[in-house]
Amino acid sequence: MRVTIFGTRTYDRQFLTAANAAHGHDLSFLEAGLDSATASLAAGSEAVCAFVNDSLDADVMEKLAGLGTRIVALRCAGYNNVDLDAAARFGIAITRVPAYSPHAVAEFTIGLLLALDRKIHRAWSRVRENNYSLDGLVGRNLHGRVMGVVGTGQIGALVARTLRAGFGCDVLASDPFPDPELERLGVRYVEVDTLLREVDVVSLHCPLTPGTRHMINAATLAEARQGLVVINTSRGALIDTKALIDALKTRSVGGVALDVYEQEAGIFFDDLSNEIIDDDLLQRLLTFPNVLVTGHQAFLTEEALGAIAETTLNSLSDFEKGLPLAHEVVAA
Ligand code: NAD
Repeated sequence: MRVTIFGTRTYDRQFLTAANAAHGHDLSFLEAGLDSATASLAAGSEAVCAFVNDSLDADVMEKLAGLGTRIVALRCAGYNNVDLDAAARFGIAITRVPAYSPHAVAEFTIGLLLALDRKIHRAWSRVRENNYSLDGLVGRNLHGRVMGVVGTGQIGALVARTLRAGFGCDVLASDPFPDPELERLGVRYVEVDTLLREVDVVSLHCPLTPGTRHMINAATLAEARQGLVVINTSRGALIDTKALIDALKTRSVGGVALDVYEQEAGIFFDDLSNEIIDDDLLQRLLTFPNVLVTGHQAFLTEEALGAIAETTLNSLSDFEKGLPLAHEVVAA
């Protein structure tokens, strides 16, 4: 089957090509992301493969359907960028990769937290200039602090377990479906509002939905503990960035580590070091000494990329053979 793969980088090509040896699809790799303007590049492909920041709205669905596309395989877990009703209306099946390596994201989350809290990123740039001064690098122990994990699915559960069993933190969690194993470890489930009021650090691991959009906002930040540290490796729009910047400026938020950002589409995954960036919020965030931003790389391990490629190609092969799709996403 011919597959047009949007938004690819070297690592996508490497892992998808290797996994395709067992499938034999005709893969066409494009650097361009998928949106209304680029959808026509899928002409002649029954299948399209897309990623987190591709736009899969009704207009794109209609264009893809008109070109003969019958399946869109997302090579990511989240599908907040897909109009599922439109996909159904235009007869396009949507699949995703629900679990590739929760460890990849959970480990990166802990890495971000440690780097931010112990100022490892700042120490690294100092030492490169032979500046061995420790002034301004005082951190805090994780042990004994109150950590909050919002969403204890695959990734959040690993983060909560590591913080509780590994570092000896007091862990509060919030999830409509509490995990009994975490409760046995001493993780305490509370409502999200209570969690945000009581924790020293909050790490976000719930999906982006209309109900969770901007869950970190001016009102929740006003109620939070002084010096709250915010970690987000889930989806950017869980946070109202403007409110977060205001709270950083008043020092009520004490640190922020983000792997995702609400307006990341069109910025992340590209080298823009020679460009003028119009996004004032992102640029302001980067000026704070207590903010650490990475470009949506929490998933980027060999294990995760291998698993993503394998699951994506399995879905496409199952579709081609008319088999049931194990990882299909349908409108609720
Ligand atoms: P998951 O579906 O296993 O877990 C999500 C959990 O959130 C579930 O337990 C669900 O019950 C809970 N939840 C739903 N609504 C909630 C709410 N309002 N409050 C609290 N909890 C709520 O998902 P996962 O695989 O653990 O992924 C978590 C997030 O991480 C997703 O948004 C995904 O898009 C993101 N992600 C980011 C990267 C990255 O590279 N940065 C990689 C993979 C996944």
